[in-house]
Amino acid sequence: MPATDGSLTEREKAKVRNWFANRAAKAACESCGGRKWTLSGHVVHVPVWTTEYRTEVSSYPAVVVVCQGCAHMRFYSALGVGLCQEDIQEPARRRSGDEDTATLALSGR
Ligand SMILES: [Zn+2]
Repeated sequence: MPATDGSLTEREKAKVRNWFANRAAKAACESCGGRKWTLSGHVVHVPVWTTEYRTEVSSYPAVVVVCQGCAHMRFYSALGVGLCQEDIQEPARRRSGDEDTATLALSGR
C-alpha cells in the first residue's frame, strides 16, 4: 500500500510495471500510437462527482502512466493493480531512496 503522500516504493513500482507489461502494454497510445510509457511515482485520486458541497469526497485510487511521445495520461485502478485494498485505512511507510518516477521499458512489445 502506498505511503501517506501517495508515493510508490520501488517494490510497488515493480508490481505496477509487471501488471502493465502483462495486461496493458500491447495497446498503443490512443493519442499518438506510441508504446513507451513512464509510470508516475504516486497513487492519485479520481474524485467521485457530486452536486453537493463536501469537505471530503469519495474517490477512486489510480496509478498513472504517461506516454513519452505525447504526454497522454492513462489511469489504472490501484485496486485492480493490487496496490490498495478498499478496507485498509492505515498507510504504509515509504522507504528511503525511492524515486518519483520510473520509466516503463515497453517498447517493441
Ligand atoms: Zn502518446
